[in-house]
Amino acid sequence: MKQARIGLIGLGTMGSALALNIAEKGFAIAVFNRTAEVTRAFHANAGALAERILPTESLKDLVAAIARPRAIILMVPAGPVVDEQVAALRPLLDKDDLIIDAGNANFNDTNRRVAASGGPFLGIGVSGGEDGARHGPAIMGGGNHAYWDRVSPILEAISAKFEGEPCAAWMGPEGAGHFVKTVHNGIEYADMQMIAEIYGLMRDGLGLKDREIGDAFAKWNNGTLESYLIEIAGIVAATVDPATGKPLLDVIVDAAGQKGTGRWTVIEAQHLASPVPAIEAAVAARNLSARRAERAEAEALFGRGAGRIGGGVTPDVLEQALIAGKVMCYAQGFAMLAAASTEFGWSLRLPEVARVWRAGCIIRSRMLNDMAAALAEDSRRNLLLAPFFTALVRDTQGALRQVVAEAVRAGIAVPALGSGLAYFDTLRTARGTANMIQGQRDYFGLHGFERTDTGAKGQHGPWAG
Ligand code: NDP
Repeated sequence: MKQARIGLIGLGTMGSALALNIAEKGFAIAVFNRTAEVTRAFHANAGALAERILPTESLKDLVAAIARPRAIILMVPAGPVVDEQVAALRPLLDKDDLIIDAGNANFNDTNRRVAASGGPFLGIGVSGGEDGARHGPAIMGGGNHAYWDRVSPILEAISAKFEGEPCAAWMGPEGAGHFVKTVHNGIEYADMQMIAEIYGLMRDGLGLKDREIGDAFAKWNNGTLESYLIEIAGIVAATVDPATGKPLLDVIVDAAGQKGTGRWTVIEAQHLASPVPAIEAAVAARNLSARRAERAEAEALFGRGAGRIGGGVTPDVLEQALIAGKVMCYAQGFAMLAAASTEFGWSLRLPEVARVWRAGCIIRSRMLNDMAAALAEDSRRNLLLAPFFTALVRDTQGALRQVVAEAVRAGIAVPALGSGLAYFDTLRTARGTANMIQGQRDYFGLHGFERTDTGAKGQHGPWAG
């Protein structure tokens, strides 16, 4: 083999799948892994693709194996490991060689590395898990556009395709790619939480068996809710545990793990003053799920509230409620991206974000195609105000209200669906209740308020002075 077109460091779950994908698309790739046995085993098991894979056992050999100007993908744990790899690589590289961090970096780290990591640097978000990385992920690029152009033929070739269009695009400068990936993950948290809440209402509120729940998700996957997450929710619910013969969900502990991207989304949303209450609710729900002992103690004291739900709630009504909830969650995520674009001067193209998310990534769905179209009409407008989604929400918000009301009555927690409904009700209330807050703030701190009649600002109540 001559020199490789690209290099990759980190043959873990994602890196090995990505390397095989790159080789399969016809690009010779040099690979390196901290533990050399992993590299040897990877090459030995690569089958016919092995001829396009150049295994190396030192960074020096890796660099020597790649054609100039070089591009090297890092697929290692986010954080200090990335800085260590960059520091080890830079002295071995030419000044225009490109390092690409394809892990789940915090975008603040990517901003820093793009600005000052000693040479060309791109931060790209890769979504789709192992299967996506192997057969077609969604790829969100960030950094200097010219560096993206150098590797975009490879990244587009390995990405998922939606109706022939690659789900790989440059999102913006600096850490824009990792920021978009972070918000993708935040939306994923809220989408999954809402699905889990609907599952709970079917299980506890309607008393359905796991197999029936699986059937409901499978049916919904043929309609408006068609998406990867609904598809796999149906599969998970219908799966039987081979060890016990019980429904698999019955033997899975109800404590959700997390690696931090949901939390990062919420933190950045707070910095941007861009509300994402459904994502906040989802992150909080995961944290509460982990407190198993506390929940068991509280249940012993208060009894569980999971009574049956009535009020005409059927699986069809739950489907409608989930549609409305999903729109709220995506509206919040896209509004946050719009706020970030303005704040950081990134000129994010929101229709492009929705297009990239249509295939390959975990939140891929039919609805994202409609979102791409709505954002293409007006990317600054809240999705709820786009005619397509206004009509959809008009049709489904009643079901969301009915479901949340019945869940509250039965004592079944629906934090993400409930916050989605509150977001909707708040948005559609032109005259809200913050006048009371302003009155109180003026009373205790003379913060001043704006008058509705004259528009004068900095006004005080009669208590002043
Ligand atoms: P794995 O744990 O499977 O692999 C980690 C890789 O990094 C291994 O090759 C490991 O080498 C190497 N590594 C770990 N520590 C060091 C170190 N200190 N110095 C050098 N190399 C090191 O992780 P994943 O493949 O799952 O994740 C990689 C990145 O991709 C992460 O940022 C993750 O957040 C992101 N990601 C993961 C997704 C997933 O579904 N798993 C989805 C999207 C992004 P060794 O064999 O020697 O241990």
